[in-house]
Amino acid sequence: MKKIQMVDLKGQYEQIKERIDSSVLDVVQSTAFINGPEVHSFQKELEDYLGVKHVIPCANGTDALQIAMMGLGLQPGDEVITADFTFAATVEVIALLQLTPVLVDVEPDSFNIDPEAIKKAITPKTKAIVPVHLFGQSANMDAIMAIAKEHDLYVIEDNAQGIGGSYHSKDGSTSKSGTIGHVASTSFFPSKNLGCYGDGGAIFTNDDDLAHIIRGIVNHGMYTRYHHDVVGVNSRLDSIQAAVLRIKLPNLDRYNDARREAAKKYTAAFANQEHIITPVVIDKEDTHVFHQYTLRVIDVDRDALVKHLNDNGIPCGVYYPIPLHSQKAYQDKRYNEADFPITNQLVKEVISLPMHTELDDEQIDFITNTVIDFVGKSVTI
Ligand SMILES: *Cc1c(COP(=O)(O)O)cnc(C)c1O
Repeated sequence: MKKIQMVDLKGQYEQIKERIDSSVLDVVQSTAFINGPEVHSFQKELEDYLGVKHVIPCANGTDALQIAMMGLGLQPGDEVITADFTFAATVEVIALLQLTPVLVDVEPDSFNIDPEAIKKAITPKTKAIVPVHLFGQSANMDAIMAIAKEHDLYVIEDNAQGIGGSYHSKDGSTSKSGTIGHVASTSFFPSKNLGCYGDGGAIFTNDDDLAHIIRGIVNHGMYTRYHHDVVGVNSRLDSIQAAVLRIKLPNLDRYNDARREAAKKYTAAFANQEHIITPVVIDKEDTHVFHQYTLRVIDVDRDALVKHLNDNGIPCGVYYPIPLHSQKAYQDKRYNEADFPITNQLVKEVISLPMHTELDDEQIDFITNTVIDFVGKSVTI
């Protein structure tokens, strides 16, 4: 059996090696390292793929979120509602901009922000909602957009984990995730569904004015050379990374299909396990791109399961072990434990299994058998 990896970047690279190597070499030989033609071409190709008017490439997914919030003109003290159960980057940039993060609980099935919890958290100071399409499952955008409309709030989609996924609205329309809110961010970190070979990110929007503002912000607040109209940042996607992404983008649907196939096999193997809750696909299959395949284990010592898998050569992850509202950096006396029953439960139960585009049946069988064997022997009640 091939060695099992959490993410198999090498196996994926080998299949596109010749084209990647020659494209990267072309950039090196052209010396157009910054803002070269590859960046512009990638931007256009991603706009076409997503069906969005503007893609603004930047240095990473955390910058993308921060720049989106700067572009919307959010001001210190404005409240921004986001999920308690997500990667810290989401809340970090809110705090960095001196906005007030308002963390709310998530839904137990989708792991995504709970629209009912959003409603309860709205105050006159609320300015924006940041749904995260966690683990690749599109959040409930119909409900979130309706709340935003009613209360005149911005919606910033954190699409770092959801690129290539779709969302089917109740009105019958289908859109790519990250193209529904006012603005969205994504990450091209190597392990993401569309990963480059270093850091990278992008902002998407259909709003022409916002796109113009953001294009200046990423470039030191410059709209005319050496005229700095607003305080900006330096956040660019390297030409070499754009060259890699141009080769990977046409494979994105195939990559996401491979992830869905692996997820289906995992879920089938765990079908009769009463102590294992497999991830639910909310709505149609294409709404989930399985950035992670995350189980909940019930009445099982999750940390012992992690150790058992690791001892058997199976890497796995706990995303995320601590609710953001309990993190030292983000604790606040405004928060009440009773408001986070789902997140507080999930952090104890979740375990993410290896998930990437190169998993084979032998590996999946070994992983599922090892999990089932341990769970069968170690149920705590
Ligand atoms: C990866 C990730 C980010 C940050 O992306 P970077 O490119 O690493 O800065 C933000 N939000 C979520 C949900 C992520 O998974």
